[in-house]
Amino acid sequence: MNNEVNLNKKDLEKIIKKIPKNDLHVHLDGSIRPETIIDIAKKENLDLPSYTVEGLNETLFKNQYRNLEEYLSTFKYSCAVMQKPEYLEQIAYELAIDNQNEGVRYLEARFAPQLHINDYMNMEMVLMAVNKGLEKAQSEFNNRSVIKNGEEPPFYYGIIVCAMRNLGHWSSYYDNFIKSFTFSDDHIVSRLASLELAKGALKIRDKTGIPIAGLDLAGAEMGYPAANHWEAFQCAHEGFLPKTVHAGEAYGPESIFQAITDLHADRIGHGYFLFDASKIRDKKIVDKEKYIEKLGQFIADRRITIEVCLTSNLQTNQSIDDIKNHSFGKMIQKNICTVFCTDNRTVSKTSATKEIMLAINNFPLSGKTLRNCITYGFKRSFFPGDYSEKRKYVRKCLDYYDNVTEGATGF
Ligand SMILES: [Zn+2]
Repeated sequence: MNNEVNLNKKDLEKIIKKIPKNDLHVHLDGSIRPETIIDIAKKENLDLPSYTVEGLNETLFKNQYRNLEEYLSTFKYSCAVMQKPEYLEQIAYELAIDNQNEGVRYLEARFAPQLHINDYMNMEMVLMAVNKGLEKAQSEFNNRSVIKNGEEPPFYYGIIVCAMRNLGHWSSYYDNFIKSFTFSDDHIVSRLASLELAKGALKIRDKTGIPIAGLDLAGAEMGYPAANHWEAFQCAHEGFLPKTVHAGEAYGPESIFQAITDLHADRIGHGYFLFDASKIRDKKIVDKEKYIEKLGQFIADRRITIEVCLTSNLQTNQSIDDIKNHSFGKMIQKNICTVFCTDNRTVSKTSATKEIMLAINNFPLSGKTLRNCITYGFKRSFFPGDYSEKRKYVRKCLDYYDNVTEGATGF
């Protein structure tokens, strides 16, 4: 196709770095600078498999993981360094700075507050600490003259709180929670923890004004159905808190269906198995091909947004031997609203720029489609301001995008 983005690699990367980008799916705890993990671990006498950046990048943060469970196992080290407000603030600040440095103008940072509740911090203090770091980075950035004089769009952010599909003894809060429900099975315990999170998020949002922009469901998908968490998502829905759900990452299309019907998901994290009929296990679905066709249509028509995380999927799904086989190709073919996301900058060794470059280099992506994907990111964001402010901001970002790409071949 001659309208594909087509520049030499260096020039292209320069432009991609400069265009205003967004990241709607990035985990705070999966995106800590390795240097920071090491510094805090040393200060707090915490165990790490290595105390050098190279060592961590070999032993902990790998290029390929056996499965999602192994990928998620790295989080016990990151959570351990996030147990004091000053560390949460620093980590959140650094995440925003790293994003700003590669041209991300809008960021939705997500994390599970209940992983950080302990004897020193309640949920409000956890959220306040993360917000303090993000807010500091935002005000420093927006103080620049190019932002103040309107030449470039400002940097904004929202916070997404994550409920977990299943619980483990990952924090003192979860530990106490599990111990308090000796006679209940683990599905009931995780369901109640999610509900408590949703209630807390709404109360803290309304009390403090912190930009808590959405509720997410994260964690191991296999064996832990989304529908189990419907009360938490209903509570968020009633409180006008937008919703996103990790689904179709390690389980089939019916998991995506559950997310958008039972949990009212506005966006889907990953959605990788959206078109994989072989993954359907629900016996009620007889014509599997027809089911995925209809589901794809429904998602496209409703503009339910898929937060595509190419590198992360490649690392946790051994069945994707070549990135070209990723369902992203089919998603854009079917005009599904897709956005590029990093998932975990450190665990996946990636960045917003790298994800876009990976897409350009492996899919027949026209300049128009690339612009659309970036536009969707701004438009389908859970922007915490009011709608007319959001529209003005999106316009500003797109005008700047067109400015940066003006005259570049293929854009
Ligand atoms: Zn994720």
